[in-house]
Amino acid sequence: MNPVDVFRVALDTPLKRLFDYLPPPQGVVQGPSDPVARPSGVSSPPLEPGMRVRVPFGRQKLVGIIIEAASSTEIGEDRLKSILQVLDSRPVLDASALGLLRWAAEYYHHPIGEVLSAALPKAMRGGADVQAREEQWTVTAEGCAAYASGEPRRAPKQRELLTYLMEGSHATQGHSTAPAKDGVSATVLDEALPKWRDAARALKERGWVSVADVVSANSPTGARPFSVRVAGPELREEQRAAVEAVGGALSHFGAFVLHGVTGSGKTEVYLRLVERVLEKGRRALVLVPEIGLTPQLVGRFRERFDTPMSVLHSALTDHERLVAWRDAFSGHARIVLGTRSAVFAPVPDIGIIIVDEEHDPSFKQHEGGFRYSARDLAVMRAQRADVPVLLGSATPSLESLHNVDSGRYTRLSLPHRAASAEPPRMALVDLRSNTVHAGVSTPAIQAIERHLRDDGQVLVFLNRRGYAPTLLCTACGWIAPCQECDARLTVHLSAGRLRCHHCGFDSVLPSRCPQCGFAVKPVGQGTERIEETLTGLFPGATLARLDRDVVRRRGDMEEVVRRMSSGEARILVGTQMVTKGHDFPNVTLVVVLNADQGLFSTDFRAPERLAQTIVQVAGRAGRGSKPGEVLIQTEFPGHPLLHSLLSEGYEGFARAALTERSQASWPPFSRLAAVRDSAKTAESALEFLTEARKLAGTPPRGLRLLGPVPAAMSRRAGRFHAQLLIEGTGRSGLHQFLDAWLPGVEQLPSARRVRWDLDVDPIELF
Ligand code: ADP
Ligand code: ZN
Ligand code: ZN
Repeated sequence: MNPVDVFRVALDTPLKRLFDYLPPPQGVVQGPSDPVARPSGVSSPPLEPGMRVRVPFGRQKLVGIIIEAASSTEIGEDRLKSILQVLDSRPVLDASALGLLRWAAEYYHHPIGEVLSAALPKAMRGGADVQAREEQWTVTAEGCAAYASGEPRRAPKQRELLTYLMEGSHATQGHSTAPAKDGVSATVLDEALPKWRDAARALKERGWVSVADVVSANSPTGARPFSVRVAGPELREEQRAAVEAVGGALSHFGAFVLHGVTGSGKTEVYLRLVERVLEKGRRALVLVPEIGLTPQLVGRFRERFDTPMSVLHSALTDHERLVAWRDAFSGHARIVLGTRSAVFAPVPDIGIIIVDEEHDPSFKQHEGGFRYSARDLAVMRAQRADVPVLLGSATPSLESLHNVDSGRYTRLSLPHRAASAEPPRMALVDLRSNTVHAGVSTPAIQAIERHLRDDGQVLVFLNRRGYAPTLLCTACGWIAPCQECDARLTVHLSAGRLRCHHCGFDSVLPSRCPQCGFAVKPVGQGTERIEETLTGLFPGATLARLDRDVVRRRGDMEEVVRRMSSGEARILVGTQMVTKGHDFPNVTLVVVLNADQGLFSTDFRAPERLAQTIVQVAGRAGRGSKPGEVLIQTEFPGHPLLHSLLSEGYEGFARAALTERSQASWPPFSRLAAVRDSAKTAESALEFLTEARKLAGTPPRGLRLLGPVPAAMSRRAGRFHAQLLIEGTGRSGLHQFLDAWLPGVEQLPSARRVRWDLDVDPIELF
């Protein structure tokens, strides 16, 4: 131990540790180009946890975050290096953000540097300024002279820009001889003189104007007052009770589950609560599953509040993300709305956290190393900030319902639809006893006909995109396989391709069997084929389709939503994407083409997912004044899950499912962690997990190790996958075990032959 002052820095590396550095040598300038010009001789502010620093790391220079100061280090003085540069004059992660992230690193057993990375936009990790800078254009002395003499005469665009820079928007109020003092920002010019840039470039070449980057005016403290643009409807009794329950407890932590059937006015409850929080001068964080799927929610917040909002989602460019993050960080934005990773967004003076569609699996990070649950972290964040968290859903997760049962969360119910809408009527269609036309049964065809005749719109749901899931040779039985996966290739007819939905493999669609030369044919249904079938059956009705093949760019989703909302499209065929959020008041019929995927899965969560999907898609029916009807096609009309769902609704299903989970001791009655790996051979994938299991010896009481087993689809993208589950009756027991066990697992020689990771609270099992 060397008694020196060092700073412990988190770096984005896979190592589960911090790195010690000496403070920067005296005289190092703060900031890459510090916006607040500091007079020389004034000492820089002290280094604090949460500030970014640039440090030497091997042969690289990395940006890291100071986690803490310490007075001693294990590193020999000769090997100890100094911080090269300090990037911030105040922390970009405050004490509460750092606290949450350090907690998450421990809970998910993940390297702190990678956890911190998830919390900051890429540009910030690269060293971008914490404050926005913007181009400011000013007229030079030469430019002023040129302007006064009426130049440039033959370039009207340049003259126009020069005039604007000299006179600003007051151009009509007479002439001035001095330019606007601080210049005019690019944003202002964009609004005033679209396409001004060519003229600006020409003027700059003549030396008549100049441009500089300055800190933009989004002031952190000038919290613009908010106002409600349009008052919402008068709340119904249940809504009022929900708003009171949460709104009356804004000054401390509480977790609430807002269980409201679709169309019951949950969003209205969110809006009222956000209004109360804004009134107190605080800010709101709203998490949604996927922005692309919920443009309507963003629209409703913008419609209601005249106040700056920061919207964070995965489709943003790096720069857009930086801009949105800065708006949140500075406090300029009063509402921060975003997807999963927005749970880490900076929200100064946070007053509430709302998680919409809290059951949605996309709140769990499925890929990459840091597999966190944004829903669970939202609860933890609210607890640490001592503010309420509201988890809304028409189909709450069994975890959240269990937390209600055990008294940890408070349930608020909205059992009725808002306005006059009636709940939809649900019925099963037995696929075995009805004639089926290319996936659509006769009762479904008749119902579609009837609803179209009555001027309704129809939504047809099938959770499978493409034309057909199988390409078959009827002569020799050949089925087009993926070379890289244990899976069949999906036919995409209009694109003329065969594609693997698991690894992305893509090839030309053959017309003949590569084995025997006979003609091949697509078997089974995907959304593309259902679209074709329904177009043939209902030639008078315009169709729209919504799936990942249709929605490729920004705006595609909005276009489909527009065609449905305007009534131009009468039938909408789609995948999971149609189940989310949309409010099409004129949809009166929903047809679920196949409920059976999910009834017999190895994953204990499959029934919950299926019930949620059915209830969510059914909730799209009859949201307006006309009553809705839902038809569910199945080959197993006697299945207990479908039965409880139809006779007792989601509530009844959830009771039954929780009882089953309790008997089998699955979550939420136990805690799970999964170690998953993949390798070039099935043997190596199993070997590593087998050794890891051996290392655990006899697990302590209350813990079970299950497996290892190969994944149900073992080969994916050319690699073999396997899994080892650790199940514990309590959280602390499980985590103590993991803490003791994982360092040894990391050291196993076989670990080097596989790619592996740990998933705490996994929501998908193979
Ligand atoms: P949810 O979020 O639960 O699906 P919404 O908040 O979108 O429900 O409400 C469904 C519809 O009912 C919306 O059109 C909304 O404007 C309307 N609505 C909500 N609350 C009321 C109310 N108290 N009175 C009248 N209409 C309401
Ligand atoms: Zn063949
Ligand atoms: Zn594949």
